[in-house]
Amino acid sequence: MRHWLVITLMFLSSFAVSQKKNSNEELPKLQRLNADQVNPQIDPCTDFYQYSCSKFFAANPIPADRASWGVAGPLQEWNEAVMRQSLEAAAAKKQGRTAVEQKIGDYWTSCMNESTVETASAKAFQLELKRIDDLKQRSQLADQLAHQHSTIGSAWAVDDNATFAPMFGFTALQDYDDAQKTVGQFDQGGFALPGRDFYLSDEAKSVEIRKQYVTHVTNMLKLAGESPSQAAADAAVVLQMETDLAKAAMDAVKRRDPKNINNKLTLAQIQKLTPSFDWQRYLTLIHASAQQTFLVTSPDFFRGLEQAIRQHPLAHWKVYFKWQLAHDSAPYLGKAFVAENFNFFSHTLSGTPEEAPRWRRCVHSADNALGEALGQVYVARAFPPDSKERVLRIVKAIEGALDQDISNLSWMTAETKKQGSAKLHSILDKIGYPDKWRNYSAVEIKPDTYLENVHRATAFEFNRWVQKIGKPIDRYDWTMTPPTINAYYDPQFNTINFPAGILQPPFFSSDADDATNFGAEGAVIGHEITHGFDDQGRKFDAKGNLHDWWTAEDAKNYDERGKCISDEYTQEIPEAGVKQNGLLTQGEDTADNGGIYLALIGLENTLKQQGKTLETKGDDGLTEIQRFFLSFANNWCEELRPEIMRTVVLTNPHSLPKYRVNNTIANMPEFARAFGCSKGKPLVHENACRVW
Ligand SMILES: [Zn+2]
Repeated sequence: MRHWLVITLMFLSSFAVSQKKNSNEELPKLQRLNADQVNPQIDPCTDFYQYSCSKFFAANPIPADRASWGVAGPLQEWNEAVMRQSLEAAAAKKQGRTAVEQKIGDYWTSCMNESTVETASAKAFQLELKRIDDLKQRSQLADQLAHQHSTIGSAWAVDDNATFAPMFGFTALQDYDDAQKTVGQFDQGGFALPGRDFYLSDEAKSVEIRKQYVTHVTNMLKLAGESPSQAAADAAVVLQMETDLAKAAMDAVKRRDPKNINNKLTLAQIQKLTPSFDWQRYLTLIHASAQQTFLVTSPDFFRGLEQAIRQHPLAHWKVYFKWQLAHDSAPYLGKAFVAENFNFFSHTLSGTPEEAPRWRRCVHSADNALGEALGQVYVARAFPPDSKERVLRIVKAIEGALDQDISNLSWMTAETKKQGSAKLHSILDKIGYPDKWRNYSAVEIKPDTYLENVHRATAFEFNRWVQKIGKPIDRYDWTMTPPTINAYYDPQFNTINFPAGILQPPFFSSDADDATNFGAEGAVIGHEITHGFDDQGRKFDAKGNLHDWWTAEDAKNYDERGKCISDEYTQEIPEAGVKQNGLLTQGEDTADNGGIYLALIGLENTLKQQGKTLETKGDDGLTEIQRFFLSFANNWCEELRPEIMRTVVLTNPHSLPKYRVNNTIANMPEFARAFGCSKGKPLVHENACRVW
């Protein structure tokens, strides 16, 4: 429950970019709303998404090395180009490099030199495989797991459905009942497919994907040195073991409710859940401090893990670790590993036809490993202080809008309003980049050891999380890097976080009018603020504690409104071939609906100060409110390949872009008025939902 991400499905797909461009060429042009982009052939009251986006889609087919493409595509390319130029400059500099330039420059060199990757990384990988071969008894599982978590993958990074790491995840988190305390959390995990349904569903498409997955695991084990027959037998073992773990895992809808994952257990109790695993040994090896209690997201999962440890002999666990090691290491190994990994995860699961060029993969690798070193250079170039000031003004206008909204609500009692307002006023707004940059001096980076650089950067980051446990909290720490095109709300810190990467066109432009900026960035800001008050966020108080501050009557009213949203979004998604579960997406859908309302109120108040109204017409012939809605929809002009659409609908708590636009505005009479949509039109919902 670290955060709820706002958007950008594009980044679920593998990194990609159209071929072309070496870094000395001009940067791609950043686009923002262009009113000529609407398609007059389409009725805005029937399909506002296609009305706003179809001309863009026709002119901008998805590039072959992307799983999706949209108006934010040029921004992605721009960010990548800026990072690339910074990395190349740092790598080329001969003398007087700063500490940051040494780290990012040598990291870049180690990644870009494919011939040393084929040799040096392969050698380092062989040593890791040998470690697994040398395991003698099951009691060493904790040793191997501690080592793997500390060298490769992201065992600290809790995802929507699980932590994608071998066996389970381990991280630091605020105590749900006392957000001033940082405790250790064990999370379900251990499988590599995107969610437990991928293992358990009998649906034909899922069965087919599992078949392809077994082939992929077989190929990876062959690359790791196994004979074809051994690899095929071992891949079947891997699928069985991951299925055992997936079966034991909590499902995604139940997991959304923080009450279900707030299980505090002592080490002795955890040892009882999974007696065959040496928990104390694992904690000692990763240098975690002694703790009274830990959070265990799903005790049932750890009971299932016990079953799996007992049922499977050591030989199976060696195969499992080998596969997980190869899976996590693949992006940092030679061409054959990269291609096989791409072929299943980016092609089969996401639909991307072609692999991204090496430089693009190295940019993302550097951002992932040394994000706040690379981010300093990015921010210096991309996010001037006056942009930060203007964004802050929009944030304040939207927080003011929620304050106004809360005080006007007809369905909430004064008591709950007081608490809600207090929570709103306690939000910490974090804009662009951290006040204090992370110090990477402990990470050794050399120009000729790519995989080992990744091992050392992983060790640093995992340890950084582990060492938070038992220490005072730090609300100023970030879990996204500055160039990231995304944003998040953290319910336990009660912070909203907007990296500089999303404070660029088409989301925010320093030269755009207020209606354009409020419709785009404003709705994103409103979305994040609303997360503090969505169906799960509302359960946390101003201090970030999981504490019920609602009167029973207000909670009941809230739930009725929430159900309207979850019912509305429980719908067939024909283009993805699956049905959406509105209970999985309820929080995000609530944030989308609240976000645009708050942005609209914020815009109206801002215009009032300038002597204008929402109906004031501009030089482009549009009223302020029309431009606001067009800018909102423009933000979401993004096409996805069917493969990734299916994966998203089945596992992701966000609705697809089309529904983020059409469902949201169909709930707003303000939209119907702005575009003259009469009753009975598809985008005029008779039973319009509204929470915030
Ligand atoms: Zn969100």
